[in-house]
Amino acid sequence: MKATIKRRLPGWFALAVVLMLLAAGAEAHSYKQRALKYSSRSQKMALAWQNDTRAKLSALLNIDDLIAARKDIPLNPVEISSVNKVDYLMKEIEISSTQSRRIRVMVTFPMKSRGPWPAVVCLHGHSGQPTSVYEKDSPYNGFATELATRNYVTIAPVTSQHEIFEQGRTLVGERLWDAMRCIDYLETLIAVDALRIGCAGLSMGGEMSMWLGAMDQRVSAVLSAGFLTKMDQMEQDHCMCWKVPGIRELVDFPDIFCLIAPRPLMCQNGLQEPPSQFPVDVAKSALKEIQVIYMNFSQSDRVELVVHPEGQVVDIKSLLLFFKKELKPVENKAASIR
Ligand SMILES: [Zn+2]
Repeated sequence: MKATIKRRLPGWFALAVVLMLLAAGAEAHSYKQRALKYSSRSQKMALAWQNDTRAKLSALLNIDDLIAARKDIPLNPVEISSVNKVDYLMKEIEISSTQSRRIRVMVTFPMKSRGPWPAVVCLHGHSGQPTSVYEKDSPYNGFATELATRNYVTIAPVTSQHEIFEQGRTLVGERLWDAMRCIDYLETLIAVDALRIGCAGLSMGGEMSMWLGAMDQRVSAVLSAGFLTKMDQMEQDHCMCWKVPGIRELVDFPDIFCLIAPRPLMCQNGLQEPPSQFPVDVAKSALKEIQVIYMNFSQSDRVELVVHPEGQVVDIKSLLLFFKKELKPVENKAASIR
């Protein structure tokens, strides 16, 4: 009987079966594993998951050695320029990111109040530069300027590079490490309250804000604009610079956002986002996954998605309210939230 069946099976059928088995095998080992996907658990187990996930991601990003050796890398800040902007002083500063690499950052200091001030790391997106986040006629709506005039110290590094500077590093890892070094620098400033440091960014800056808040627990409040999404959505019609080799095997974006809990998180997505970009429905789906860990920490009100009527822009009003609540700047009588 067996022999009869064998004779009746055509060659193409056997080939099809082999191909199907190979495809199934490939699927089983594809990125869809998301091995560290967050699921509801006790607070204690949630903290353990966060520590484990941070460790695995810092190894994947190839910055674990830098984090461990942070204190052995002196910043050696050098002032490049200083401009009086009436409400604040704007400086360009050069600091050491690693033992062999120097970076330039924009920093502003309030001039109409005394410290200690809260501070916000301000992150630009593709084709931007550190000054972009201060520009009012831009998708950033000058959010860094708005903060600078309201008695926050602001600091803005370069995050738009698409070349890896040091051998063995990763693009996202180097971008993230440079942003972490901004916090190292802020911590050296007596006039900055290290317990009131936030971060904010738009688009790829929103992505890096997610990474900074997730991986650096010195950040007390995180704002991610024009970015909340899932990795499947980012596989098409996007620059692939987000895709660190091996990341899909470990996590999706909601898991990285889960590392921010229970610290306050505000995401912003615009109704005018095209379906291929950062649409609100995908953001809401991602938010649902992030809300789980905030519920586990009994801090459900600390995560929020602001849906605004525009496209990929920073919504200034909700940003200012968020940081005012979370970082408590000195109030200016003259400054109002527009
Ligand atoms: Zn890119």
